[in-house]
Amino acid sequence: MSKIDQEGMLVHAHVQHRRFPQIEHGALEAARAIVIHQTDAADEQATFYAYARGGHGAHFLIAKNGTLYQTASLFKRCFHVGARIKSRCLELLKTNCRDPEIAKALTLGWSAQIAAINDIERRKTYPDRFPVNSDSIGIELVGRHIDETRYEAVTAEQNHRLQWLLDEIYRHFSMTAADVFRHPQVSYKHPDEAGSAVWR
Ligand SMILES: [Zn+2]
Repeated sequence: MSKIDQEGMLVHAHVQHRRFPQIEHGALEAARAIVIHQTDAADEQATFYAYARGGHGAHFLIAKNGTLYQTASLFKRCFHVGARIKSRCLELLKTNCRDPEIAKALTLGWSAQIAAINDIERRKTYPDRFPVNSDSIGIELVGRHIDETRYEAVTAEQNHRLQWLLDEIYRHFSMTAADVFRHPQVSYKHPDEAGSAVWR
């Protein structure tokens, strides 16, 4: 079983620490959910170079061979979800979403609509809305975006290590598989990102 040290790093033989303070942006208020991503890069080195420049990033990175890196402290917020979140009510319930503000937003043009939906959703708290940067842990899986509909398949080694990591996070933060989301479920991303990641 892993431990979390005073710096917010997961301590276990399966975890290599490659922390980049450049991708940490203030405190993570509470870890309540997990968002799974793919990097759109060929290997972990490309992501390390990007993280060294700062900006966007996630807490963990899993290489194609299953090597697991922790790239940011679990006590710090990372920018991995994106600026505009979708409506959880609308995505799950479709026409049965009874939120009158959402109904009004849907009458707007596309860009005004996604901005209005984001504003409405951010006044809610998780799990009534999707996770945001301030309440979620981000996990990146190395893998390239191939074309309009596909990402590279997540490898068996990546899925194996992902499940181990999720089980540790569930235990440390009292989460379940119901708190794990693919990035495109939560915000407006390429629809197949993390599409072949599997977990329970
Ligand atoms: Zn992503």
